Amino acid sequence: MKESAKAIVIQRPYIVRLICPLCEHEHEFDYDEFCDIYGEPPEWDCECIVCEECGEDIQINGQDWS
Ligand SMILES: [Zn+2]
Repeated sequence: MKESAKAIVIQRPYIVRLICPLCEHEHEFDYDEFCDIYGEPPEWDCECIVCEECGEDIQINGQDWS
């Protein structure tokens, strides 16, 4: 009898998406470039990004990995 095992796919993050809560403009950043600017994911909270559409400050509050 053969042993079986599931193949495990290791995913690599590549895009960080941030949607402005005011104008719903979608910002997309290259994951590596985003990390260069804002550090590793645990450090992102409370960082601010200026919305390129409406000019408001968007504060990062948590993450959703999909
Ligand atoms: Zn906006």
